[in-house]
Amino acid sequence: MHLPLDLKGATFEQVAAFVAELGERPYRARQLYRWVFARDAASIAAMTDLAGSFRTRLVGLCAISRLRLAHQHLARDGTRKFLFRLQDGEAIETVLIPTEGRLTLCLSTQVGCKLACDFCRTGEGGFARNLTPAEIVDQYLAVQREVLAPGGEKITNLVFMGMGEPLDNYADFVQALRILTAPAGLHVAPRRITLSTAGLVPRMEQFGREGIPVKLAVSLNATTDEQRNRLMPINRSYDLARLLQACRAYPLARRDRITFEYVLLGEVNDTPEDAQRLCRLVQGIRCKINLIPFNPFATSLYRGPQPERVQRFLDILVAGHCTATLRESRGVDIEAACGQLRTSAPGLAEAAPLALHG
Ligand code: SAH
Repeated sequence: MHLPLDLKGATFEQVAAFVAELGERPYRARQLYRWVFARDAASIAAMTDLAGSFRTRLVGLCAISRLRLAHQHLARDGTRKFLFRLQDGEAIETVLIPTEGRLTLCLSTQVGCKLACDFCRTGEGGFARNLTPAEIVDQYLAVQREVLAPGGEKITNLVFMGMGEPLDNYADFVQALRILTAPAGLHVAPRRITLSTAGLVPRMEQFGREGIPVKLAVSLNATTDEQRNRLMPINRSYDLARLLQACRAYPLARRDRITFEYVLLGEVNDTPEDAQRLCRLVQGIRCKINLIPFNPFATSLYRGPQPERVQRFLDILVAGHCTATLRESRGVDIEAACGQLRTSAPGLAEAAPLALHG
């Protein structure tokens, strides 16, 4: 075990093992876990109901890391985007999206991304590194702590649709899920968590065997291998047939469905033929299709689809008995929408932290 142990990145079982190694009683593990996650303690010293002698032993052996909130932006529609500065100077973005009856947090799993999808801004900047489990989990704690009033609104849903490919940071992502869902800590219900993947097929299969019943979303975005190869280079490793086979075989929770995300790129993949092919491709898979009109950014090669074409696309899916919904773009004016996140934020004065830009 690395010392000091960062409690924020440890599963309950790891904390229990650590406490046992110290020769302390098992209930100590539960106390520590509660302090770190349920009570968001900033330090060992803050754990005031732990015996002084126990606290003294812990100092030096464990620590509690914290993300630094460098900046936040508020969009006209109430969406908020946070820029967190990491220990090594890298930065990530996290997005909080209020919708009726829900408060959804969109989390990042990597600094940048390796997959280089042609239409996604995160991929443009390349890949820097994986986030640690603590950095993944703390996005949730930090937003809850810094933005939401104590006893007030609570984050209800988590979606792994921010920067990075969760399954490309497999071990850390799975560890973060175990921490987020631990009954002794944050206890987020798995059905309130969605993993979104570009389709790393072997990892999807592996994840299916972990037995963590979070929801699965798959970014499809194209209906032929030729087009998907161009838009999403990962398709050259795992083509549509393999991906859809993995989806068919995925051990879904009872009454659950896979969500297929489909970014509509104007005049590229938004034709009636695409809609018909999409319908055929997903035949026999318990699923719904989520259409996402492309969110443009300064350097993007693509444009958003015309509203009539979106409607036509949707009509064809419905006529083909596919369940389909249209994702409303949120936070576009502050570049917080799908595919608009990146690691640097030029022009943001860090000297004015926590400023809200409406
Ligand atoms: N790597 C994961 C999660 C991050 S992307 C994945 O690929 O699923 C989250 C979603 O945003 C994906 O469905 C992706 O296709 C979509 N997306 C990326 N760039 C976009 C853009 N510019 N406009 C709209 N959606 C975009």
